[in-house]
Amino acid sequence: MQNRNRKSKPEAGALPSRGNGVAATLPEKDSLELPLRVLPGAHPCQACGACCKYIATEIDAPTSMQDYEHIVWYISHRDVGVYIDWEGDWFIEFSTVCEHLTEAATCGIYRERPRICSDFSWNECEKTTQESAYRDRFVRPDEFVAWLEGKRPKAFAKYQKFRKKLIEKREAASAQALPEGPAAGLESGDAADA
Ligand code: SF4
Ligand code: SF4
Repeated sequence: MQNRNRKSKPEAGALPSRGNGVAATLPEKDSLELPLRVLPGAHPCQACGACCKYIATEIDAPTSMQDYEHIVWYISHRDVGVYIDWEGDWFIEFSTVCEHLTEAATCGIYRERPRICSDFSWNECEKTTQESAYRDRFVRPDEFVAWLEGKRPKAFAKYQKFRKKLIEKREAASAQALPEGPAAGLESGDAADA
């Protein structure tokens, strides 16, 4: 269940941080002057800060049409992604920069930083290991639907039908609700004022 290499909120008690064990030379044991203002030039965290530029939390794996709709809705939002880690767990990710990340890409509240930050190990992060933390990741609905088609063809077919039906229902409802004619219901002159 643990989310390898990502600063995400996984199961309780297994919180994954940048800065833990940062050493003056690479990669010596846990030592660094606090507060963290400057990093040794050769340290991988130098000028990085990538792990302080998003938050992610685990979500239930989607199984129903409504769940798929939720995934599509999530990733229809700018800077929101959904990914599946190597254990098959699903996460929602928001690309947003921590207020405490300094211009030098260090932590402005190093001593007081949240536990999730201090538990995150720089020598296991994606940059250091050069390994992706996710098996699949979607930032646009079409990416997710393509994944569905390839990985869950039955669910994809069902979802296509579900979507078709939904759209037909909406079209029928709006056709009923709309008065006839393009300017029906408007007094002469209203259309020009609109
Ligand atoms: S090297 Fe890894 S731990 Fe260090 S700042 Fe970059 S992403 Fe975070
Ligand atoms: S509190 Fe510090 S270590 Fe944690 S995300 Fe913000 S800048 Fe990064």
